[in-house]
Amino acid sequence: MRDTKSAEAFSEAGNFLPGGVNSPVRAFGGVDIGPIFIERASGSKIYDIDGNEYTDYVGSWGAMIVGHAHPKVLKAIQTAAQKGTSFGAPTLAETELAERIVAAFDSIEKVRLVSSGTEAVMTAVRLARAYTKKDLIIKMAGCYHGHSDSLLVAAGSGLAEAAIPSSAGVPGPIAKLTVVIPYNDIDAAETAFRIHKGKIAAVLAEPVAANMGVVPPVDGYLQTLRNLCDADDALLIFDEVITGFRLAPGGAQQLFNIKADITCLGKIMGGGLPAAALGARVDIMALLAPAGPVYQAGTLSGNPIATAAANATLDILTKQDCYQKLESSAALLQAGLADAARGANIPVAINRVGSIMSCFFTERKVRNFADVRSTNIKQFKKFFAEMLEHGIYLAPSAYEAMFVSLAHSQQDIEKTIEAAKNSFQMIIDK
Ligand SMILES: *Cc1c(COP(=O)(O)O)cnc(C)c1O
Repeated sequence: MRDTKSAEAFSEAGNFLPGGVNSPVRAFGGVDIGPIFIERASGSKIYDIDGNEYTDYVGSWGAMIVGHAHPKVLKAIQTAAQKGTSFGAPTLAETELAERIVAAFDSIEKVRLVSSGTEAVMTAVRLARAYTKKDLIIKMAGCYHGHSDSLLVAAGSGLAEAAIPSSAGVPGPIAKLTVVIPYNDIDAAETAFRIHKGKIAAVLAEPVAANMGVVPPVDGYLQTLRNLCDADDALLIFDEVITGFRLAPGGAQQLFNIKADITCLGKIMGGGLPAAALGARVDIMALLAPAGPVYQAGTLSGNPIATAAANATLDILTKQDCYQKLESSAALLQAGLADAARGANIPVAINRVGSIMSCFFTERKVRNFADVRSTNIKQFKKFFAEMLEHGIYLAPSAYEAMFVSLAHSQQDIEKTIEAAKNSFQMIIDK
């Protein structure tokens, strides 16, 4: 069992919060043990209320790319807070942040700041529907785009059929406006466009899937999506809430040299505070209120504290070598994990793109959601629990990524590999 204070806290929280948490994965439902409650975090380390220290590979789901409580980010937050915490009126820092985003992404000319990735994607979808005057959205199974109605859907019975709700409370008629296809399946994308020709407003994709664990696009996949959209006057929306500013300053679009029509950003760009954004060409963004007829608003959009944290974080990420450092730390970790698994004779497939990776317990390649679901989840759960015992905090779900940050030192990585050696060993012993 987990330590008493966290267990007690979870039980107490359950009296007041449904499931004891404010976001489902925090309940550790995917790993059959109680969650740790966090006291504080610093750099690559996170501390629970029982005083345990962990090397953190969750990093607030990737938001903490410069590490926890970075002094420059803290200073920016403190300075901003002293001047007032919210005005509901424009500030200079919002323009500065938008300018940074425009500079980083070739495909973005204007930006709307929002408070969450969910809002960014929801607005992107509305914008695409308004721009194309069409209704259907294509998404991929296993990709997550926040919790708006249109996107909490699962594949219907046949390939390229209308989707069905994947959450209670999502009306069937709304789900029917989304088509769900398997990720990395070029034929399925072509088929969907053939069947729904002239009705597709947008293809919405994570350019590197990172919410079913990390699944990179196969060669030519993103280009195929781009071509299909162009041929049918549909927009290509890249949900770069995880990949934006992480894989490169210009996200997956820079890495794979593909331009999206609309880009959604979140997580990293908020520097650990609630800030997210969508951006696109001028002709698309001109449709957004008050410039155009597509309504969207937010009391806390462009909030001065969140914007200060965002600007400070993106400023740190402009320093030379950041992305090389992320790449080399993550490559070292990947090689060490692969080695440790081999040493224990546990078959794994480690998918990695830059500083995001997943260690799947399987002998096969993992290229889509069906592949992920066929991996050995029981082994993952044991591995997770062992790693936690060894002071390594991985995402508490076989369907989530590991996030390497700039704060992870070589010693952190080496300690993690040592822990993995023992943990893989324990999987066979049990
Ligand atoms: C986290 C995430 C979202 C949702 O962002 P929130 O800020 O949690 O609403 C959307 N898309 C992707 C790819 C994400 O990883």
